[in-house]
Amino acid sequence: MIELSNVNKFYDKNVEALKEVNVKIDKGEFVFLVGPSGAGKSTFIKLLYREVLPSSGKVMINGWNVTEMKKRHIPKLRRSIGIVFQDYHLLTGRSVYENVAFAMRVVEASNKEIRERVPKLLDMVGLSHRKNQEIDKLSGGEKQRAAIARALVNQPSILITDEPTGNLDPETSDEIMDLLKKINVQGTTVIMATHDREIVDRMQKRVIRIDQGKVVRDMARSGYGYEV
Ligand code: ADP
Ligand code: ADP
Repeated sequence: MIELSNVNKFYDKNVEALKEVNVKIDKGEFVFLVGPSGAGKSTFIKLLYREVLPSSGKVMINGWNVTEMKKRHIPKLRRSIGIVFQDYHLLTGRSVYENVAFAMRVVEASNKEIRERVPKLLDMVGLSHRKNQEIDKLSGGEKQRAAIARALVNQPSILITDEPTGNLDPETSDEIMDLLKKINVQGTTVIMATHDREIVDRMQKRVIRIDQGKVVRDMARSGYGYEV
């Protein structure tokens, strides 16, 4: 569960990226985060994995108060959250398998666990046949599937995606959305920041709109809505 209470974030005294944000997201929800460029979406997302700290207010993630938690607990928080970016952030020059396995090596999983788990994830995202392919040789959609497999391989309860379809054509974007839907149905909370009006309109999920740092709209089973 995710809860932001009275959250404010100033980068410096002139830049107020988030203002009095109050948002609660339950386990298993699918949430779109929409709003114009510079609205505060990335800041919202970064607060969740403690990439940035709030200037005031409280951020609770799976029972942890991120502002007060001990440094040594941060890796555990980050492991409970998978992250997928628009530009993939994959390791070039390595295979699909290695990219997914690496995320498990980082958390010191055993070789046995890695050998069991990586093929399962590659199967889930539909990349088994590409497992030995070098990352650079994949299409954009395949790269994003690899990034999703990597994000999920340590079994996080939350998947955060920042413009995951931003570099993809509409058809490939739809395939990625089908995959995110499947992941959500299996119980993972999915939070997706996006500008893609068509996708948001079609999915009819909860939509949180941020504008100039404020939550200006928060509706269940909604479409993209209009800029205010
Ligand atoms: P979005 O993701 O919706 O485009 P951001 O969260 O990236 O919005 O940015 C919100 C505001 O905070 C913008 O005015 C942006 O310029 C500012 N901002 C973001 N990151 C920083 C930073 N590291 N330092 C200073 N200002 C920042
Ligand atoms: P940024 O440049 O935005 O700070 P990074 O490139 O440091 O981002 O990391 C972004 C994401 O990519 C992280 O969430 C991490 O999971 C993943 N990542 C970064 N480096 C590696 C790596 N060597 N192997 C696997 N995943 C990585």
